[in-house]
Amino acid sequence: MQLNFIGNAAQVSSSGQTIPMLDPSDGQVFDHIQRSNAKDIDHAVRAARQCFDTVWGKTPAAERGRLLMRLSMRVAQGVDELTVLEQRDCGKPTRQARADAVALARYFEFYAGACDKLHGDTIPYLDGYSVLTWREPHGVTGHVIPWNYPMQIFGRSIGGSLAAGNACVVKPAEDACLSLIRVAQMAAEVGFPAGALNIVTGYGHEVGDALARHAGIDHISFTGSPSVGTLIQQVAAQRHCPVTLELGGKSPQIVFADADLDAALPAIINAIVQNAGQTCSAGSRLLVEQTIYEPLLERLGAMFENLRAGPASMDLDLGPLIRQSQQQRVWDFLSDAQADSIPMVAKGSVVDEAPETGFYQAPTLLRDVPVQHRLAQQEIFGPVLCAMAFRDEDHAVELANATPFGLVAGVWTADGARQFRMARRLRSGQVFINNYGAGGGVELPFGGVKSSGYGREKGIEALQGFTTLKTVAIKHG
Ligand code: NAP
Ligand code: MG
Repeated sequence: MQLNFIGNAAQVSSSGQTIPMLDPSDGQVFDHIQRSNAKDIDHAVRAARQCFDTVWGKTPAAERGRLLMRLSMRVAQGVDELTVLEQRDCGKPTRQARADAVALARYFEFYAGACDKLHGDTIPYLDGYSVLTWREPHGVTGHVIPWNYPMQIFGRSIGGSLAAGNACVVKPAEDACLSLIRVAQMAAEVGFPAGALNIVTGYGHEVGDALARHAGIDHISFTGSPSVGTLIQQVAAQRHCPVTLELGGKSPQIVFADADLDAALPAIINAIVQNAGQTCSAGSRLLVEQTIYEPLLERLGAMFENLRAGPASMDLDLGPLIRQSQQQRVWDFLSDAQADSIPMVAKGSVVDEAPETGFYQAPTLLRDVPVQHRLAQQEIFGPVLCAMAFRDEDHAVELANATPFGLVAGVWTADGARQFRMARRLRSGQVFINNYGAGGGVELPFGGVKSSGYGREKGIEALQGFTTLKTVAIKHG
């Protein structure tokens, strides 16, 4: 049984209740977590506050950096262990689970180096005055983490927050807690003071809501769905608590006729099958210039047919979806496609070894999806790619910007001037040209516009959000 981790100690929930954890590869219960409540959140926030007031808030930046570096090395040493946990908990194929653990170590490494490079300014002002700014931590930050990339999102969120000098209270998604509890134990092992990093598990509407409402939380970092993002903002607004939101996406991959298809097609496939399509930045819409629409779909269709889904331990192209309700969500979208006669180009397969009780979905390529259709507007959060054709650059921009989201856009073209024009015209937090992100991109600020949220995590930019600026004006004559 898994316990909360509060003040560097394993703790049972005051509710005395637990939640079963399912292995998505076979749908069977393999462990239990605490079903925590508002009392447990209060306990964790007090531990964090105590730590911030007495130890962490006084720890020099260089020392915070050393601790984060030790944690990075400890995570790197524990990559195999974390890979096994994540594979079981989230159904990620081995290589994908491992990549997340490696990225987590890298986040801590990056933010370790950033701690003592966070400078303020001196500002010219009136004669006889000196003015300076300090970037100060908020105090205690709350972090609500989704189930799709628990280690990566935890890494970027608490990595930046601890680097900036905050103490953290984390609420993982109930479907994906194991790796985060283990990493918090590692943080205690390498010397983080009790209360700097606390993990409280449970349901979002209970413990997540309690975290957002707690008066002792000075800032909330939320990654998840737009609807819960709205709830969190409403709750936080009551006490004017700042919120960083990383919400979903319906990201376009835009392919012009002059693109290098040998480079583009594998990246387009990876961006929709990675983590079985349950990725906020999934390239879930494929916009193709009319003149190459047919040959491109033929080539891509043949590649889709070779894709295989199966148990995480088989380490195939994709594993199962996280849970049955997610599988049902994808089925609902696909039956809408059928009802509305949206043609299917190709479908991959689920291997025979996949247990019937697992939550599998074969990758599916659809074509001629009308831009206003639900399939082209909403997050499916599964391995379903929706293709449509465009006439020219203006039409490509119009289609790309025609959803409520604005997280990532991929543009594939050899024309340098067009690369810049497209990057300017796309309403999106990130634009990748002739690539779709590589090597984790820990250094690159990440976030969205419109319903994809606001605020930026990752990179040095994240430290702005995890701090507040204090202006000090001194009159000395
Ligand atoms: P979700 O339902 O919004 O859940 C996200 C987190 O919020 C979970 O920890 C959840 O807890 C918690 N939560 C649920 N209701 C809550 C409430 N009333 N108050 C406080 N917390 C609450 O989203 P999800 O289904 O886990 O994740 C998928 C979504 O996240 C997709 O829309 C995806 O695009 C988005 N996402 C965005 C990014 C990004 O960086 N932009 C990254 C990853 C995912 P429980 O699950 O335990 O109930
Ligand atoms: Mg799980």
